[in-house]
Amino acid sequence: MSDRHLCTLLSLYVLCALCSLLTAAHGLTDEQKEFQKVAFDFAANEMAPHMAEWDQKEIFPVETMRKAAQLGFGGIYVQPDVGGSGLSRLDTSVIFEALSTGCVSTTAYISIHNMCAWMIDTFGNNEQREKFCPDLCSMEKFASYCLTEPGSGSDAASLLTSAQRKGDHYILNGSKAFISGGGDTDVYVVMCRTGSKGPKGISCVVVEKGTPGLSFGKKEQKVGWNSQPTRAVIFEDCAVPVTNRLGEEGQGFSIAMKGLNGGRINIASCSLGAAHACVQLARDHLLVRKQFGETLSNNQFLQFKLAEMATKLVASRLLVREAATALQENRSDAVSLCSMAKLFATDECFNICNQALQMHGGYGYLKDYAVQQFVRDIRVHQILEGTNEVMRMIISRNLLTES
Ligand SMILES: Cc1cc2nc3c(=O)[nH]c(=O)nc-3n(C[C@H](O)[C@H](O)[C@H](O)COP(=O)(O)OP(=O)(O)OC[C@H]3O[C@@H](n4cnc5c(N)ncnc54)[C@H](O)[C@@H]3O)c2cc1C
Repeated sequence: MSDRHLCTLLSLYVLCALCSLLTAAHGLTDEQKEFQKVAFDFAANEMAPHMAEWDQKEIFPVETMRKAAQLGFGGIYVQPDVGGSGLSRLDTSVIFEALSTGCVSTTAYISIHNMCAWMIDTFGNNEQREKFCPDLCSMEKFASYCLTEPGSGSDAASLLTSAQRKGDHYILNGSKAFISGGGDTDVYVVMCRTGSKGPKGISCVVVEKGTPGLSFGKKEQKVGWNSQPTRAVIFEDCAVPVTNRLGEEGQGFSIAMKGLNGGRINIASCSLGAAHACVQLARDHLLVRKQFGETLSNNQFLQFKLAEMATKLVASRLLVREAATALQENRSDAVSLCSMAKLFATDECFNICNQALQMHGGYGYLKDYAVQQFVRDIRVHQILEGTNEVMRMIISRNLLTES
């Protein structure tokens, strides 16, 4: 391991061990502070030392995720009777922020897996919950969320993957694009068309790996998120038992969107973790790097930049936690707040990480320094789980239709 690499790891360790404004414990209960510490420790000890290697070698760290699951992070907001931790959306946000300081890409996949497990727990019947949730919560099995198609991204309700009923099976035909975990995961939560055009013709079915007619595209080469595979998921006369349908026929789009409300808080929380790490990395760099005869930390322009970064991080966190609380309480403003939190936090945190890279000068552009990986990993948070343009559409639509 190079000296530079060691430096980065030490900084990340210090970051994870620090208790300050940045560690985000303010306002949390003792119990929340406790599992926040567990998540920070896990990030520092089990993730941060490997995040560069997972990125560069494109390793999906199955065993590390199973260790995270032993701490209850495989089904954080899934009910305890099927192996979940039964925690709140706010608790979940606190955990994902902390874990992301150790590896954003891996944590973001864990967040998608949690979203799928929650969908099965919430919309599945007891038989389905008991069949799928325990193995998902222990991360013995991994899940993928399948909504996007080559021809339907932002306009998700126009999806074409068909599910024609034949006796006690649906016959699926079509393909899903950009599926996180695709090919390496075991359980696919698939939105497909059982009825007419539009959102009301969509149903949600669970497809298990190994089902004849299910196959995968090539592994996509990505800018970031390299510790998790992304592939197309293809259905060719793929027969899925009707008993694998979650909820009623026609409820699939609503189930998909309800999953995404929480998903958006989770992905925003992963952005908080990245920004959290990058503010700390920038601070540490300013304190040691000398130019013009003094450390960069003596430069007022850079001091002000650092202050702005920390302020925007705290503002983003407040909004994300408010949205998490609104969703937990099923408040009428929850959908708008989840969209606002995703829009604001993913944009602001990307800018914070990018500014931290700038503060590192040329070193920030080298793969020996973690800051570039945080920048690459969180760029996609502005695009997926609904682009930030779609977030604006949801927020404005709700504002304009409110009576
Ligand atoms: C790494 C990665 C992982 C992903 N993982 C998953 C996954 O696990 N499961 C899944 O289902 N999907 C996944 N996605 C897909 C992701 O959700 C979509 O890429 C996203 O929803 C955008 O769809 P699109 O790429 O088709 O872009 P488009 O919908 O074609 O949009 C292109 C651009 O036009 C803008 N735009 C579109 N319509 C409007 C409008 N009306 N007004 C203003 N602007 C508009 C968009 O905001 C965007 O900037 C993933 C994507 C990536 C890159």
